Amino acid sequence: MSARALSVLGATGSVGRSTLDVVRRHPQRLRVHALTAQRDIAGLLALCVEFRPMWAALAEPAAARALAAALAAQGLPTQVLSGPEGIVQIAGDTQAELVMSAIVGAAGLVPTLAAVRAGRRVLVANKEPLVMAGALLMREAERAGAAIVPIDSEHNAIFQCLPAGFRCGHADPGVARLVLTASVGPFRDAPLDKLARVTPAEAVRHPNWSMGPKISVDSATMMNKGLELIEAQRLFGVPEPRIEVVLHPESVVHSLVEYVDGSMLAQLGAADMRVPIAHALAAPERWESGVRGLSLAEIGRLNFRPIEPARFPCLALARDALRSGGIFPNVLNAANEAAVDAFLGGRIGFTDIAAVIDRTLAAAAGAGLPGGDGLEDVLAVDAWARTAAVEAMSKRAVMHA
Ligand code: NAD
Ligand code: MG
Repeated sequence: MSARALSVLGATGSVGRSTLDVVRRHPQRLRVHALTAQRDIAGLLALCVEFRPMWAALAEPAAARALAAALAAQGLPTQVLSGPEGIVQIAGDTQAELVMSAIVGAAGLVPTLAAVRAGRRVLVANKEPLVMAGALLMREAERAGAAIVPIDSEHNAIFQCLPAGFRCGHADPGVARLVLTASVGPFRDAPLDKLARVTPAEAVRHPNWSMGPKISVDSATMMNKGLELIEAQRLFGVPEPRIEVVLHPESVVHSLVEYVDGSMLAQLGAADMRVPIAHALAAPERWESGVRGLSLAEIGRLNFRPIEPARFPCLALARDALRSGGIFPNVLNAANEAAVDAFLGGRIGFTDIAAVIDRTLAAAAGAGLPGGDGLEDVLAVDAWARTAAVEAMSKRAVMHA
């Protein structure tokens, strides 16, 4: 059997690197067709030297030029594309059978859509596009015959617990409820009055998972679970009231499906993204991922408890946005990206993040925004919400002083 061709979008990131670590273990089964990143020239160059892809792309044109020069100097045949268009071209290349979508944030929407429209098997780690444009992605996947395979650990766990042959974007009538587990970031037990003053360095220090900065802040605010709630509704067609979130500090049970007969199926494993990645790359087979199973006797006990709403207002904002539907999940996502960026840049405080999102959602309600679910309207609403969030932050600047 010849090796299957894989393109990795966001190859230099946390999920991208975990993906390539699994690929490294299966040279007979997988071949890297293309790699992309934003601006990390040295990082992408090293990956090109190791994996010898046919194509590479960097979103920043100057960085792409430098990468092309460095590859040529080393006599490597990899061809370099440049800018967001270069990444979209790679995403939609039908020479790759598999596409890993692991760009962070809304920047991954157009590339993920291109991979879906090209009818690829699309491994979706990049959850934000599903939140922004879930209906569009599912519709296009159906039309183009693309398979969407969830990589986010909770959604991959649910996917593994659903009947074989389940297709994302459809609903299984036997499913009563989904239960998403939340490990919650570093502020699970921090005194509530300390939260306003936590630093970016403290916020990105997740106790169980090692991830990129944006999702680490999202985990600390629990917006990550909010985005995942919306992601789960899009992928599995289960209505919002039947998706529960439960706090599970150990990150051993990655999520559960409850069936109408009362059975609950769960997937368990180490907190290592190589597990869901290997599952998605290998399905329906099972391949070695570099991760070992857990000793339950050593773990001894697993804890589950309800979420404290006052500590995590972002989760309620996401649930409300999903309930309201239409433009609101997209506005929530864009405002969150702008606020997290400002928090990481030291421009707002940690608890300002929820306040900025709340204000942006309120402003969106009366803004007469276009409500279609096509790409043009989705991008227009995303752009509006970023500007509105920045405006809300300029009014709050004094709070942070
Ligand atoms: P990261 O910040 O570590 O990596 C992001 C990657 O995207 C990098 O390769 C970067 O170069 C690229 N990128 C960033 N901005 C870009 C742009 N504008 N254009 C093109 N490329 C760009 O992020 P991550 O932690 O690997 O997360 C990636 C996605 O996967 C996110 O949507 C995240 O929510 C999701 N996810 C991550 C994890 C995890 O364990 N890290 C788990 C579940 C889901
Ligand atoms: Mg997750």
